[in-house]
Amino acid sequence: MITVNHLSKSFRNPDGSVIHVLKDVNCQIEPGEVISVIGPSGTGKSTFLRALNMLEPPTGGEILFEGKNILDKRYRLDLMRRKMGMVFQNFNLFEHMTVLDNVTYAPCRLLKADPAQARKEGMELLRTVGLVEKANVYPSQLSGGQKQRVAIARALAMKPEVILFDEPTSALDPTMVGEVLSVMRQLARQKMTMIIVTHEMKFARDVSTRIFFMNEGVIFEDGTPDQIFNHPIHSATRAFVMQINKLPFDMDGDDFDYPGMLSQMNQFCIKYSIPEKMKAVSYVTDEMVQVILKNFRPLRIVLSHSDMTGETHLAFMVKGLEKSPFELEEPDPLSLSLIQGMSQEIIQEPTTLGFRIKVKI
Ligand code: ADP
Ligand code: MG
Repeated sequence: MITVNHLSKSFRNPDGSVIHVLKDVNCQIEPGEVISVIGPSGTGKSTFLRALNMLEPPTGGEILFEGKNILDKRYRLDLMRRKMGMVFQNFNLFEHMTVLDNVTYAPCRLLKADPAQARKEGMELLRTVGLVEKANVYPSQLSGGQKQRVAIARALAMKPEVILFDEPTSALDPTMVGEVLSVMRQLARQKMTMIIVTHEMKFARDVSTRIFFMNEGVIFEDGTPDQIFNHPIHSATRAFVMQINKLPFDMDGDDFDYPGMLSQMNQFCIKYSIPEKMKAVSYVTDEMVQVILKNFRPLRIVLSHSDMTGETHLAFMVKGLEKSPFELEEPDPLSLSLIQGMSQEIIQEPTTLGFRIKVKI
């Protein structure tokens, strides 16, 4: 349905310098696919989406839509845009029109639909997004989640071949994200072709047929959710999808605030909703820092937790050490058994900066 070859896009800054936002984007999208585009901010995800429907004309390359290059000057962009719906982060509803008029406006205006028929179909679409009761109110009377559902109904009213979504839930209050994602899940089940820029990792993993990980202006990795989330080829993909939250400390000198560290670790457990791990984190840290590794300094301690996998790790790295501290000094057996009792796994690994003992909590 869509083929993108060597797509590039540069912007010229006011000072005359040029930034290359899209460098060499290549992909192919088939009918019925649900593609999630993920990646750090500023890597060109929105620019890519806007290039696809020529809201942001590319600088180079080609985009074939149903076999025709839309960058061709003779190409009828108006006809293409009718087949390519777009849902924006900030809804972009017509504020002076009722909800139903928002939905029927484009079909009446562009497709010359019969007004009565358009209203009938519009009500049907509002039913699918759960907003029949709001048909005659104005957007200002709706919540963010409701506005976004109207925007989706409005895009569907044109009977598009594909809908592009640019972070449709990122302007919403967290309580309203679910209702919008639920409508999008429903569309995915109905085999609507969709390209979705999103930060909702669990949603991307569950609904997508394929995921594009964008990084630095290229599609860095393109694969099934299983590949991207469970067996990514690139380490950059892995770090991004695992959304690993880290809390690092460097114990270099004598004036290190040890109680302060434990308190920050507790706050970290609360912040990432793992209060049940607080006790194990404190015990393991105490035993490692005060007993097992007491003769090994400087020490780097990192508490990490992944939202995606639910895994929590405490890593203790003795800087500059190549061998395991356990080989150099027999670990205190009582301390070690206490740590084993409070953890799931103890991993010993050399790194470029030193030797690391990683405890899975
Ligand atoms: P993402 O959606 O991945 O966060 P964007 O596509 O919005 O990234 O932007 C990528 C880069 O392009 C950013 O550095 C942004 O500042 C720049 N950019 C986007 N649009 C313009 C523009 N119209 N003029 C100049 N720079 C732009
Ligand atoms: Mg963006």
